Amino acid sequence: MLRCTDLSAAYGDIVALRGVDVSVQKGEAVALIGANGAGKTTLLRAISGLMPIRGGSIEFDGAPLDGLSPERRVRGGIAHVPEGRRIFPGLTVKENLLIGAAARRAGRHETEHDLAWVYDLFPRLAERERQLGWSLSGGEQQMLAIGRALMARPSLLLLDEPSLGLAPRLAEEVYARIATINRGGLAMILVEQNTVLALDVAARGYVLENGEVVLSGVASEMAGDPRIRDAYLGH
Ligand code: ATP
Repeated sequence: MLRCTDLSAAYGDIVALRGVDVSVQKGEAVALIGANGAGKTTLLRAISGLMPIRGGSIEFDGAPLDGLSPERRVRGGIAHVPEGRRIFPGLTVKENLLIGAAARRAGRHETEHDLAWVYDLFPRLAERERQLGWSLSGGEQQMLAIGRALMARPSLLLLDEPSLGLAPRLAEEVYARIATINRGGLAMILVEQNTVLALDVAARGYVLENGEVVLSGVASEMAGDPRIRDAYLGH
């Protein structure tokens, strides 16, 4: 459903992506791993239209994304959960979620249906729907950011470091929900420093280094690959 071919992108003279080929099949979870500065965030931003590309192409559902604004891409089915969550602190949990629905101009009936779905996935958000975003814990804010993206009813979810800053048990909890969402048929790209968690949920993975794909394969095999263990698993 997504095919990036020979993609390149740069910040001025700093080349962040070079000749990147990455694809995602319908319903598939794909992990994108690599050290700080490898280009993972830049790749997600290129897919969601926040970062212009210098070369190559991105096709989604068989059509090129060139020239489409980020808003059009959201309406087309691509939702991005940025690093750092970016929830709106002065809005309630429910208001944050409704902003996700507004992105695709959903009607009231659809919005209520989707809200019920998000609350079913994340019961803690239902309990706290009238609380302000800033009053949530880090793990709850991450769930809210994911829930807000789901309200746009995407077919591809881009998740940038969903475990960042979370205690191990909370990171596992967030990943358990991510696995449930994927089993429901939603395709996703998981950008992660926590390689173990990401490779556990993903079917396939890619390793980025200095803006290039240096390794790719089946996630379960990658988790056992000594090159990946040495470089990214910390043991
Ligand atoms: P991290 O895990 O730290 O977010 P990453 O793999 O997501 O790392 P990117 O954020 O995509 O990496 O960065 C890729 C390269 O682009 C790095 O060399 C980085 O310094 C550079 N870069 C990223 N954002 C900017 C920016 N706004 N201006 C200039 N250079 C940038």
